[in-house]
Amino acid sequence: MKATPSSSSSSSDCLFCRIVSGDIPANRVYEDELCIGFPDINPQAPTHLLIIPKRHIASAASAAEGDTGLLGSLVAAASAIARNEGLSKGYRIVMNTGDDGGQTVNHLHLHLLGGRRMTWPPG
Ligand code: 5GP
Ligand code: ZN
Repeated sequence: MKATPSSSSSSSDCLFCRIVSGDIPANRVYEDELCIGFPDINPQAPTHLLIIPKRHIASAASAAEGDTGLLGSLVAAASAIARNEGLSKGYRIVMNTGDDGGQTVNHLHLHLLGGRRMTWPPG
């Protein structure tokens, strides 16, 4: 892994960078200095939130060693949001990566899904 963080430039072409900047509205259920959480526009579970870094990282495939703190913060944010949302019976955190992983927005994000029993294996 590279020791330096991955690219930090945001992009006006990137949907989630535009949500971070406020250009595109989203209901921020969570925000700290590093990340935001907001509802997915096309929910796949009773609770379906996205947690994204404010800094642009395209995907887990381009994450670098310098991003480990940020990546940990995303999981901690998901955990805090899940508590706030009352997901005491459990939930699923998903990070789709690349085409085969089903990633459609190229700004790294966690899906936080809950409120129903999840199945395995995923589709
Ligand atoms: P991916 O498929 O990359 O893992 O997840 C991208 C997610 O972003 C999808 O679940 C999709 O429904 C969601 N999404 C796409 N456009 C928007 C948008 O404009 N606003 C919000 N809140 N979610 C979006
Ligand atoms: Zn972005």
